[in-house]
Amino acid sequence: MPIHEKSLIRPENLKTHENIAIDGVDVSGHWSTFIETRVVSDYNENLEQEIAAFPGGDKIHRCFQCGSCTNACTINAIEPRFNPRYWIYLIRMGMEQELLRDKDIIWQCVSCHKCTNICPRSVEPEGVMKATALWLEDKGHVPKSPSHIFDEEFSRQVIGRGKIEDTEVLHSFLVKTKQPIFQDWLVDIMWGIAKRLPVKWGLKTAFAQLFKPRTHGWNKAKIAIEDYIHEEKEARQKKLAASSAADKFLGAAE
Ligand code: SF4
Ligand code: SF4
Repeated sequence: MPIHEKSLIRPENLKTHENIAIDGVDVSGHWSTFIETRVVSDYNENLEQEIAAFPGGDKIHRCFQCGSCTNACTINAIEPRFNPRYWIYLIRMGMEQELLRDKDIIWQCVSCHKCTNICPRSVEPEGVMKATALWLEDKGHVPKSPSHIFDEEFSRQVIGRGKIEDTEVLHSFLVKTKQPIFQDWLVDIMWGIAKRLPVKWGLKTAFAQLFKPRTHGWNKAKIAIEDYIHEEKEARQKKLAASSAADKFLGAAE
């Protein structure tokens, strides 16, 4: 029987017998490749609940492992290790250490939503990828990703003023990620835009940069959004604290 998704198996766990006959039939070489059995004992039984507590992760329990998300995924097409179906499986099984093997690529989701459109169980895998990336940061497994820094800057402006100023978002993002402001590709884009748009647009942008206008009557919405974010954060932290307390209890009982 062929081994599906062979790339997910560590090379040291694949065993090929050069000379083997079973019931008198020679099954040497390629036909006798087996997966080494192993015992997994370091489960995090709260992993699914922890990730479900982050925005976008709450429908993870609906997944029935059809693989359509991975099949449609933009990033998987160029990076086979980027596998939403597999990560959802690991999370639901509580296999935190296995998930951590891919901690440096999970943030690469580009939010194209192809997976969410195709998912027959409305899991919204894009949200699960975002939730997983945030969970990795929150638990200290990875530093804050550039995409998270961009989202934070975007949200800061929306929450603070009820609108965003594109050039300010980009400028703050470059400063916070310690990138040069005048990069060739960026200068080309800005110059291309400046040539096509009316002078009025340039003046409006300069005005917005200087005076930072707000949406009329935004204050009430701002307070409500901040309250909501605060409640969500508290609920999440309680879940993380409960899970680490349970881990300690189990560790002490062993
Ligand atoms: S498409 Fe949906 S149900 Fe299928 S594996 Fe992906 S998340 Fe799970
Ligand atoms: S939203 Fe992310 S996980 Fe979904 S298809 Fe696009 S890149 Fe892949």
